[in-house]
Amino acid sequence: MKLRPAIFFDRDGVVNLSPGSGYVTSLSDFHLMPGIIDLLAWCKAQEFYTVLVTSQQGVGKGLMSQADLDAIHDFLQTQLAAHDAAFDLIRSCTHLDGTCSCRKPSPKMIQDAAALLPIDVPNSIMIGDHDRDILMGRNAGVGHTIRLAGEKEVNEPGDLLTHSIPEIQAALKQLMQA
Ligand SMILES: [Mg+2]
Ligand SMILES: [Zn+2]
Repeated sequence: MKLRPAIFFDRDGVVNLSPGSGYVTSLSDFHLMPGIIDLLAWCKAQEFYTVLVTSQQGVGKGLMSQADLDAIHDFLQTQLAAHDAAFDLIRSCTHLDGTCSCRKPSPKMIQDAAALLPIDVPNSIMIGDHDRDILMGRNAGVGHTIRLAGEKEVNEPGDLLTHSIPEIQAALKQLMQA
């Protein structure tokens, strides 16, 4: 099967508004980032795979259940599907720090996705709002990284530093033309 590039998205602070230092533990705390549906629909229309790679340690800490997390992701996918913008795949690390091999900046979630879908990893793109997202992309051999500046201190600006969802789309267009 022909390989296609993927765009890997971090969740909190990119797809939905950041819950700050805590966790989104219920649907009532899950609020989509303005413009994200249009961006995801555009990515799909460009024939990128879209993959959500998210750290949800709140499950490991017992602050929420796996079923709570699944309900949030089902809700997300249903909303996105109405706009032909659903993620092709969602990978979550729900484990306590130090107890698994998939916690960011480990490349494991991206490697797992590439084992499940015919993803062209070197031509893929990682988008995140945390240093660990950028490092995960690099560790996985993803070719391009886009940082969304938000609440987190920026030590790893990625290949392109952005400040909004429209700037992310402009950065993606820039990468596609390079
Ligand atoms: Mg984040
Ligand atoms: Zn994990």
